[in-house]
Order: sequence, then C-alpha cells, then structure tokens
Amino acid sequence: MNIPLVDLKAQYKAIKKEIDEAVQAVIDRGEFILGHEVEVFEQEIAAYLGVEHAVGVASGTEALQLALVACDVGPGDEVITTPFTFFATAEVVTQCGAKPVFVDIEPRTYNMDSTRIERAITKRTKAILPVHLYGQPCDMDPMLELARKNGLTVIEDCAQSMGAEYNGKKAGSLGDAGCFSFFPSKILGAYGDGGLVATNDAQIAETLRLLRNHGRKETYHHVIPGFNSRLDALQAAILRVKLRHVDDWIQLRRQKAIAYTERLASLDGVLPPYAGPHARHVFNYYTVGLKDTTVDRNKLRDYLASSGIATAIYYPLSLHLQQVYQGLGHKAGDFPESEMAQDQVLSLPLYPELTEADVDRVSATLREFVRGQVES
Ligand SMILES: *Cc1c(COP(=O)(O)O)cnc(C)c1O
Repeated sequence: MNIPLVDLKAQYKAIKKEIDEAVQAVIDRGEFILGHEVEVFEQEIAAYLGVEHAVGVASGTEALQLALVACDVGPGDEVITTPFTFFATAEVVTQCGAKPVFVDIEPRTYNMDSTRIERAITKRTKAILPVHLYGQPCDMDPMLELARKNGLTVIEDCAQSMGAEYNGKKAGSLGDAGCFSFFPSKILGAYGDGGLVATNDAQIAETLRLLRNHGRKETYHHVIPGFNSRLDALQAAILRVKLRHVDDWIQLRRQKAIAYTERLASLDGVLPPYAGPHARHVFNYYTVGLKDTTVDRNKLRDYLASSGIATAIYYPLSLHLQQVYQGLGHKAGDFPESEMAQDQVLSLPLYPELTEADVDRVSATLREFVRGQVES
C-alpha cells in the first residue's frame, strides 16, 4: 500500500455529507462571490484566531501581497524575511516594488533567527515578514519588540501554521497582519485556492476589503486601485465545515508527529523536528534533518519511494540563490544555516488519517536505509 504525503480523499470521505450539503446550499442560493457565506466564515475564523477582523482573499500569496499594500509597503522599502521559505513570501515583496532583505534561520526550528534581525534593519526597512515554517511559530516576542522600537510593521506568513500558538496566542494574531493560505494541502485547505488576512487593526481591515474588490466602496465607485482577489462562496462554505474539525485534525497531526519522533529519536544522523518551549507546533509538515552527511538524501528518497512512501523537500534552494534574485548580489555561503537546511531537510507523510501502522512502516523503512547505509 502506498503512503502519500497527504491524503485529501480520506479527509473528504470522513466529512462528505457535511461538505456536500454545504456546497449544494451555496449553489441553491446562487451567491458565488463574497456575500453571506464568506461573511459568516470570516466571523467564525476571526473568533477561532482571536482577532478582530478576518478578510477572505483569493490565495495565500495574495493575502501576503494585499497585506503588504495595505501596510503601505512599496518602492524603495525593504522587508526583512527568511531565505528558507516558499518563493511566494519574497515574491510579493518584489511585486510591491520593495526589496526582500534576508536574515538567516535558526537551525533547530528552521525559522528566521530573531537575534539576527537587528543587524539587517536600515533606514529603508518598512516591515518584518516572518514565516512560521512547517507549522511552528517563530520566536515572536524579540521580533515584536524590535519592530516596536524601530516603527516597523510585522506581517506574519501563516500559510503553514493555522491553529499554531505562540505563548498561548494563535499565529496570525501576533503581528499587524497574519496571512493564511487555504491551498488544499495546508492544515485548513479549501477545494481550490483561497487565503485570508487576520488583523486587529480596523484600518488595515478596511483597506484590505477595498483592495480585494477593485478598490470599490459601492458598485462602480472606486476609491483606490485594487485587485480582483476575493474568496469564493463555495470555498468559504467548505472551509466553514472544515473549521469545525480543524482542532481535531491538529490533535491527530500532533499525535502522529510524536509517534514518528519516538521511533526516530534513537536513529543516528536523523534529527526529528524540534518544538520550542513557546510554540504549539501544528505539523503542516513533519520534517526531519539528515544531519549525518553519510545519509544520501536522494538515495533515501528513492528507497522510500520504492516502498511506496512519498516524501518531499521543503525547500531545496534558498531564495537568495534563486535565479530571480541574482540582482540582489548574493552568493553561496551568505546564509549558511539556510543552505545547510536546504541540503538536509526531508518531509515525511503526515496527515490526520495516517495510521499508527503507517508511521511504523515509514519509520522502519527509513531506519532500514540509514542503518544499511551507515554500516556499508
Ligand atoms: C503555501 C504557502 C504560500 C502561498 O499560499 P498560496 O495559497 O499557495 O498562494 C505562502 N507562503 C508559504 C510559507 C506557503 O507555504
């Protein structure tokens, strides 16, 4: 039996009746863009996240982009972020005409290292854009303190961290704006694209509502240039159903993660994910580090694949080394922790419906390979 990286069909099977009814109700009502379903979803998720406002948009990428625009990030500005993330994080900075300024990561969590941020601040710095990678919040307190001291905006990339907590507060409720993705494989995934910005700032929320809908206050009356970036009512209806289950799913993810870690902890050369003391890690991905250079990642992936076990690498090339950012003038060695991580990380199958037997099999197969390779 194959073990995929995520299994969206298994999840649908478990909630089919609720989903089908919710989708049918939207079709019967005939209201497909914004409207009642989106408004109610925004209220429910704002309550879940513990924020005043939630604004549904068309994707996680656009959540980030609109948040940057709403926070006045534009040409000439610098935004401090991590080189070890999905490209969208920096892409939106570039799309705003601003410059991404990278800060290396903390090797245990793979998150941007708070202690390195201060040195990256210049007169042009406008915002800090931390990414809560794999489902674990960054160390936010030192970052928020620096932002306060320097008058900077903090925009959280929460695409992988729905439901995660830092000192008891939800990721996305800590900075000026928290940006979520409903890409199907995320913790709270839609059946298509979708995204959301959470904020406690009424002004930012109001601007976001304009920006996502052509900058219009009333139909055909436009006050600013905006975007077409709205959350579909069908996706909102699906997300409302899934939101009711998301804490159970997170609990199951955490259980499987613990089960993996128990099985892998004693394996030389394989470092299970580290969860910091302030963090409630939600494990959008269960990512190990192959710290022993004798473990050949490609061969390991092939070995697992030949047993029907899927794996992924998030992410194989740090952003400062991407062709698109050649103009920033970086070179290999500029962010050594990020470069080490790109060569060492490996994400194993993890989803709520994964069975304990699956965890056993993945762990045993991994162990088999590592033991064999180390001995030979
Ligand atoms: C998924 C993801 C995004 C982009 O979200 P989309 O909904 O696919 O546009 C941005 N940042 C990170 C870290 C992500 O994982």
